Amino acid sequence: MPIYEYRCKQCGNEFEVIQNVDDKQPPCPECDSKDIEKNLSITHTGQSSCGAPRKSPFS
Ligand SMILES: [Zn+2]
Repeated sequence: MPIYEYRCKQCGNEFEVIQNVDDKQPPCPECDSKDIEKNLSITHTGQSSCGAPRKSPFS
């Protein structure tokens, strides 16, 4: 399952969620707000962001 990055518009908290594509957006773990936006880039833990998304060789 892919990891999605979210950013809370309420408190600015950024968090990652592992979920299916058609799952609903989770609430912010910090303030429980549902006013969050999804970062479209899929990242892998421990990796800094690098340009184009690419498939992990470990999957
Ligand atoms: Zn929040």
